[in-house]
Formats: sequence, C-alpha cells, structure tokens
Amino acid sequence: MSKNNDELFKNVISHAKEYGFVFQSSEIYDGLSAVYDYGQNGAELKNNIKTYWWKAMVQLHENIVGIDSAIFMHPRIWKASGHVDGFNDPMIDNKDSKKRYRADQLLEDRINKYERDRKTDKAVKLQLEMDKALKAEDLGRLRDLIIEHEIACPVSGTRNWTDVRQFNLMFSTQFGAMSEDSEEVYLRPETAQGIFVNFLNVQKTGRMKIPFGIAQIGKAFRNEVIARQFIMRMREFEQMEMQFFVRPGTEMEWYNYWKEARLKWHLALGTSAEKYRYHDHAKLAHYANAAVDIEFEFPFGFKEVEGIHSRTDFDLSQHQQFSGKKMQYFDPEINQNYIPYVIETSIGLDRMFLLTLMNAYEEQDLSEGDTQDSRVVLKLHPCLAPVKAAILPLTKKDGLPEKAREIMDRLKLDHPIVYEEKDSIGKRYRRQDAIGTPFCITVDHQSLEDNTITIRHRDSMKQERVAINQLDRIIGDLVSWKNLLK
Ligand code: ATP
Repeated sequence: MSKNNDELFKNVISHAKEYGFVFQSSEIYDGLSAVYDYGQNGAELKNNIKTYWWKAMVQLHENIVGIDSAIFMHPRIWKASGHVDGFNDPMIDNKDSKKRYRADQLLEDRINKYERDRKTDKAVKLQLEMDKALKAEDLGRLRDLIIEHEIACPVSGTRNWTDVRQFNLMFSTQFGAMSEDSEEVYLRPETAQGIFVNFLNVQKTGRMKIPFGIAQIGKAFRNEVIARQFIMRMREFEQMEMQFFVRPGTEMEWYNYWKEARLKWHLALGTSAEKYRYHDHAKLAHYANAAVDIEFEFPFGFKEVEGIHSRTDFDLSQHQQFSGKKMQYFDPEINQNYIPYVIETSIGLDRMFLLTLMNAYEEQDLSEGDTQDSRVVLKLHPCLAPVKAAILPLTKKDGLPEKAREIMDRLKLDHPIVYEEKDSIGKRYRRQDAIGTPFCITVDHQSLEDNTITIRHRDSMKQERVAINQLDRIIGDLVSWKNLLK
C-alpha cells in the first residue's frame, strides 16, 4: 500500500469508529481478532445496503423469492457440499515471527506490488504460475514461488518459512446438552447451502417455474487463517446470496446475464467504472464450471467483493445422494425431470459496506484567503445514507425548537431524521457531513413568520429557502429507491 493509500485507509477506519459506524468487537477486553460490531450509523448503512440488494434481486424479479434459513444445519450437509473435506486455505508460517499467512495472499500482494511498480510482465507471469499451482493443489510449488520471489514476513522481515499446509476454515461446536450424545455441528461458512436444501420446499410451495431464483441474506463464519484489512476479511460476516436454478445447457447464458446484471447494480450507485474490474477464475472451485469475481479497487489493491459462479448441478446432486431424497424438477415445457443447474451470485455485505465507505469518504480543504477550514464528508448515495435529514433550530429559544420538533414529527414516520440543537450551526453541519446526511434543515426566525426553512445540501453546501409543506416531497424524491432501481 502506498503511503497515501495507507494513510487514507487508516483515516477511514478511525472515521468509522469516531462516528459510530464500526467498532472492534469486545473492545473493552482488547478486542477479538477479525470480529467487528456495527454502531448506530453503521447498522443503518448496512440495513440500507441490504435493502438495495433485496429490492434489486427479490422485489424487482417476479421469479426470485427470498428466504431466511438457520445458521445451524445438519452436519452431513457440509460433508455433501464438500466443505468438510475441501474447504481449505493453503497456509504458511514464518518461523521467526510465528505469524501465519495464506500462501496465495502473500503471492497476490506481490503481484499487486509488481503492478504498482509497473512490472507488468512479472505480475502476469507470477499470476499464471500461482493459478497453475493452485489448480494442481501443488503446495510445494506455492512455497517455491514465495521463496523465488523473495517474499519476506512483514513482521520479522525474514524468509524463514515452513511448508505450505491446508487448513480447514469451518468453525465447529457441540450440539445437544449432554456431552455423550452431543453431535459436532458447524457454523455455516456460506449461506448457499441453506438455499439448496430448501430448493424443493420453495419450488413446490411457491409454485416456481424454472428459471427461478432463491435469495437470502445471513451470517457466515470462517476461521480465516489471516484476518486483516479491517472488515475486509472477518471471521463472522454477512453474505447476500442468490441461487438461480436453470435448465441444464442454458447455464452459460444465465451466467453471462448475472455477470452483467450484478456489475450494473454496483455501478448504479454512481461509482466510477474504473474502480471495478472482472477477474475470471483460473482455479475453479470443486463445484463450478465457470466463475468470475467482481473486484473493487481498495487502497490495498483490487480485491473481490462479489463472486458469480456457475455451480452446475453439483450441490443438488450431492444432497440427493447424501440425503436419499430426490432433488429433481419436472419441466413441463420439455416434459422432463432433471436436477437443475445453478448460477450463484454471492456478495459480502461487509465488503460492500467497506467499499461504500471508502468511495464516499472525502477530506476537503475549504480554506479561503486567510480563513482555514476543512471538512470530512461522506458522499453516500442518499438511499444509503444512515440519516436522511437533520432538523436544526438556529437557536435554542424563541420557539424555534418547538417549530423544529413539529417538522421532525411530520417527517420521522417516513424517514430516519435526527434533531440537533447543540453547538453552532456550522459545527452541526460538519457532524452531519461526517455521517453523510444529505440534507440539513435549518429553522430560523423567518420560519415562524412564513413557514419556510432553509435546506442545506451536503455535497454542494448550497442553501435554498423552501416552504415547509414542500419538505416531504423534496426529501421523498431524493431518497426514493426509484433513483437506484430503474
Ligand atoms: P476470498 O478469496 O477473498 O477469501 P472467497 O472467494 O472465499 O473470498 P466466496 O466464498 O466466493 O469468497 O464468498 C462470497 C463473498 O463473501 C466474497 O466475494 C466476499 O465478499 C465475502 N466474503 C468471503 N469471505 C469473507 C470474509 N472472511 N470476510 C468478509 N467477507 C467475506
């Protein structure tokens, strides 16, 4: 990470804490590694991202429905899905610092460094070699690449590495009160399996016809070998996944459809297209016949935010075999029974949250002449902003708070609004800028006379005088989901 990027990232992390977006979990006990809590503004922002996804996927598609399956599932599900035997990361330890790393990530960081240093040939070559080694599950070759490219441990600075070993990422716990008859269960490492095992329940009760999708948002848990980069890689995180069931043979058509549709969803937020790229997988997971990542350019390089995978009929076939229950669909159009093929879209909610925060964060110098001034503003899309408007009486007297409360009562049923009367109006504007509130509504003495207020716009800082009875419409228009979902 360059110094500027490093500093920017640190500033965003402190901002997230200072303004109630993200806190380290169990902070008063010195924290729990790679686990985070969302604060008062973070929870709102996260909910708004979920709503954006749910509306785009479920509400706007007649053939997609949403479910909410349990985190605990029968342990055989993870045997069937391949996670018990195959959900591993290649890890390597530095013998001096005793720190553990993911071998592929050490190499990826080196590739990013080559790209930054404009050593494109080296970057491409190493990427190809790494992909080949991962595909062949050649752990020895991964280690050789780390040695050949002189990758040192960031902590000890030495190249004294152990062998590369596989490490299973699932958390397990005991199910049942008595230790003798308790059973080992796993905390789900992905939400997808909850969809697969309910495939027929939903298809039958919803009378769904192929092609159709099942979506869900929920927690997933992975005992990540190395957890770092804030909420980028967590041990407890949230996924927004959709499995789209299609007729075999049509999967590539749908794969391409979802690949495009999902990038559009990201870009609708107004993010520059240059910040995104596709990364086609060279090493396909055991279940996939095509896979692509949507990557975003974070300060620490391009990283995956969302995956689109063509999962074939792998999962449903496995569940049919392991459960002994038929997982087939009768297709009336071709008069045939078959196990559907599946296209999955899987986005990490926390990564999307980080991306949104990074993208919105701006430090602005507003100095004019001799007057020094600056602000930090979160230029969040109004639909995502935690607070839609702040009602600010100019002073605490003369009936202004009462008038302001009247406006607040009128708007709060439709929107999350805050009321603030402490500190100067300038300070109050800055606090709202820092959490991304699109509107500040100032109530002054004129408001008492002619029922008008000033609206101050977050990004332009321009103010305009409008009638109070226009407020519902103005705010309603700006925060309407219609602006995002067309
Ligand atoms: P990575 O290669 O970064 O470990 P992955 O390929 O294992 O990710 P998937 O299994 O495809 O990820 O999961 C789908 C999405 O879930 C990812 O695109 C990412 O946004 C999110 N995700 C996966 N692991 C984590 C994690 N540990 N913390 C936060 N989000 C995660």
